[in-house]
Amino acid sequence: MNPLLLALLLPAAAVQQPQPQQPPSPAAPAATRPRATPAVVRVDPKVAALRDKALADATAYAIVEGLTTEIGPRPDGSPQQARAREWAVAKLKALGFRNVHIEPYVLENVWERGVETAEVVSPYPQPLRLTALGNSAATPPQGLTLPIAYFASFNDLALAPAGSLQGKIAFVSNQMQPTQDGSSYGSSGAARFVGANVAAKKGAAAIVIRSIGTDHGRGPHAGGTNFEPGVTPIPAAALSVADAENLERMVKLGAPVTFHLTLTPRNVGTRQSGNVVAEVPGSDPNAGVVLVGGHLDSWDLGTGAIDDASGVAITTAAAKLVMDAGRPRRTIRVVWFGDEETGGWGGQAYAKRHAGERHATAGESDFGADRVWRFETNLPQGARAIGDRLAAALAPLGIVRGTGAAGDGTDVGPMIRTGVAAIDLNQSGLRYFDWHHTPEDTLDRVDPEQLRQNVAAWTTMLTVVANASEEIGAVVPRP
Ligand code: ZN
Ligand code: ZN
Repeated sequence: MNPLLLALLLPAAAVQQPQPQQPPSPAAPAATRPRATPAVVRVDPKVAALRDKALADATAYAIVEGLTTEIGPRPDGSPQQARAREWAVAKLKALGFRNVHIEPYVLENVWERGVETAEVVSPYPQPLRLTALGNSAATPPQGLTLPIAYFASFNDLALAPAGSLQGKIAFVSNQMQPTQDGSSYGSSGAARFVGANVAAKKGAAAIVIRSIGTDHGRGPHAGGTNFEPGVTPIPAAALSVADAENLERMVKLGAPVTFHLTLTPRNVGTRQSGNVVAEVPGSDPNAGVVLVGGHLDSWDLGTGAIDDASGVAITTAAAKLVMDAGRPRRTIRVVWFGDEETGGWGGQAYAKRHAGERHATAGESDFGADRVWRFETNLPQGARAIGDRLAAALAPLGIVRGTGAAGDGTDVGPMIRTGVAAIDLNQSGLRYFDWHHTPEDTLDRVDPEQLRQNVAAWTTMLTVVANASEEIGAVVPRP
């Protein structure tokens, strides 16, 4: 969950008036506007050769296979996650990286899943499949038996009168559509990110939502939910899409539906965690670090193959290819961020520890393993020619230059907000939310050919950026 998005959603949840018209945004800088004629740029044959070599990469798949097989699920604050850090250190050393180490930090309020069961009691008794959302409160051990209050969408829940949910379990059933750029996660995801908070404020005893997913299977989609300070958390869970659709049909038959919900998660206090860091040392220590990575943690239902063993694997494999081709100008730092899923703690810890250290660019891979279709940058004035070289070198991989400003990512976000230039390599989101945070996020969801295309894209980006002769200073920080 992007903290910016959350900041946007929390107050929005309570606002019901239409918003005043915003003034049109200023024209995009020249380098990000679509060009009538693309700049003519010759691709460095060494860049092209390394890109094409990366299309045969075996390192990335081996990392995803290793993490999912030898470690498995890696929930935040868990013993498996600690084992994953040790595994990562050994793997990164074996691959030949330098300065491989763990940067520890303390994780607060670690949340652990418990029992999670649900049944329709009447009028159509049957069990349903669901999973508790991160930060969910527990029901009594024997569960809650209460009527359902149905809302077709998060907006409908937000419009429910104050106090109207007393003694009820809210059921929000908005449906998510797949989008290439993943934008539907932001709109549909509100039901998960802040639905429980909104339901709690209106007096609900608990909330169940349709999973934020684009499948129609029986595997529920896990994920965190967030309560504002001062709001007492309520039990919150996501039904599998198939079960939510079934429950919706029952509601539409007209008779009141009574639901029995048992969730017994608990907070287990603080745990030690950490980011795993590895470097390809550059020849010019003053040129700034090129920061790349993904996150090592995962939700617990699957084995975290697409989210996000693939991201650490892609960026690591690319950095290795550049390392093996000779010393780059800039140091490439690969970070396997410790805790993304429950609040972006790894990225925040990294930014705190490395504040003031010169970074040239930052970028993360955290959107699965399907092909990269677009790239965007927000390079400062004076370094924009790097974007032109990237466009030319990435085009043979089927990657287009976007017209927006880069800056995605929960883990590198805190660095980007200090003014570090961002480079985004956007993956297709058309399949991602079929399996995101579900029991189906396993190795077999990774298409080896698309994974290799990702490695080629990141290898191209890294070799162009790490060796660029332009100075990449700070850009103006985002507000
Ligand atoms: Zn992720
Ligand atoms: Zn995730």
